[in-house]
Amino acid sequence: MAKVLIIGAGGVGRVVLHKCVQNRDLFSDITLASRRLASCEAYKEEIKDRYGVEIDIAEVDADSVEALVALIEKVKPDIVLNIALPYQDLTIMEACLRTKTHYLDTANYEHPDTAKFEYKEQWAYHDRYKDAGIMALLGSGFDPGVTNLFCAYAQKHYFDEIETIDILDCNGGDHGYPFATNFNPEINLREVSAKGRYWKEGRWIETEPMEIKMVWNYPEIGERDSYLLYHEEMESLVKHIKGLKRIRFFMTFGESYLTHMKCLENVGMLGIEEVEHDGCKIVPIQFLKTLLPDPSTLGARTKGKTNIGIVAHGIKNGEPRTIYIYNVCDHQEAFRETNSQAVSYTTGVPAMIGAKMILEGKWKGSGVFNIEEFDPDPFMEELNRQGLPWVVKELESEYNMLSQLEER
Ligand code: NDP
Repeated sequence: MAKVLIIGAGGVGRVVLHKCVQNRDLFSDITLASRRLASCEAYKEEIKDRYGVEIDIAEVDADSVEALVALIEKVKPDIVLNIALPYQDLTIMEACLRTKTHYLDTANYEHPDTAKFEYKEQWAYHDRYKDAGIMALLGSGFDPGVTNLFCAYAQKHYFDEIETIDILDCNGGDHGYPFATNFNPEINLREVSAKGRYWKEGRWIETEPMEIKMVWNYPEIGERDSYLLYHEEMESLVKHIKGLKRIRFFMTFGESYLTHMKCLENVGMLGIEEVEHDGCKIVPIQFLKTLLPDPSTLGARTKGKTNIGIVAHGIKNGEPRTIYIYNVCDHQEAFRETNSQAVSYTTGVPAMIGAKMILEGKWKGSGVFNIEEFDPDPFMEELNRQGLPWVVKELESEYNMLSQLEER
């Protein structure tokens, strides 16, 4: 029996809420808080209609440490789940520290004025969390999150040493719009329009956006163009996977998505700096977000599947070996269960499971941790139970293509 405070009533927050209610033998008291009370009210009704369960709701500005502290002191949760935006990571971490409450998030800190995300400022909380006897679990979504645990699981069960990891993220879903993003458009477009980066033999190598492309055959989806991007889980994995020589991240994009994005970029609509328009100041990418379909409304129209996984290559008992671990999630099944499409579903389910690991004492520790620092087994078992089953495959020839892919 535990009290949980979920902050952020968006697409992912909705899934976290459904999954906590489905596991209400553990999450017995739930409060959902967000910037706008209206977002929480809609989900409160949805939960009451579907499960006959009452949840508490609250309005909070998560950019204000004082407002967060007041809310946490009132609710007195055992854990705070930060499902708002990466911009709020530090304020929510600070409020959890001041109130000695466990913290969990799904994306690392990003400053609104700089399109750069890194763990430095969150890791800097480690000693203070340790002294306070509380835990911060960083990146408990799918990627980061489950992909980190797939790596930890491969390391524990399949390898003496992992040499290379390729994280492969495919959204094979179709929502029928010419252009829309599957999660918060501002965060999504900042991520994919940035330069690419991968890590090889101790150093980061930068590429132009979308410069390195390959075609991968994703099980249950088929062949898709996949582009090398920088993605945050690589920053912690290079610290925690022993013997690693190279790690890369690939995401699929269709031609229409890329053409729209290039055009929007060329006309300045992805800009993150304020511009003057008719006497008002606007940030172009925030205005674009207003125009684009709200990701939380895509669920009903999205068909198809996601496939996200890792290919790890290394040595076991002196022999080379390649393992592919992945999950396939069906957009329409996710929608039937939680009123959200698979991108929100694959993020929200692991956030609930991360909280479960902490509250049940399966993962213990004081300080700030990335998810792959814990035993992957109990979390992997929960994935199978909670709607995200995974597959492990031994690969042979497919790895040649990855290993020979042109690099800089
Ligand atoms: P949405 O934009 O749908 O939802 C964000 C929610 O945060 C909104 O409901 C918004 O509130 C709330 N919010 C924003 N600012 C504040 C604030 N200052 N105070 C209080 N609440 C605020 O985003 P998603 O649900 O798609 O994404 C949520 C998080 O999940 C993001 O951090 C995203 O990066 C992460 N993510 C992680 C993935 C992973 O695999 N690890 C994959 C996809 C997303 P309101 O509606 O009340 O205005």
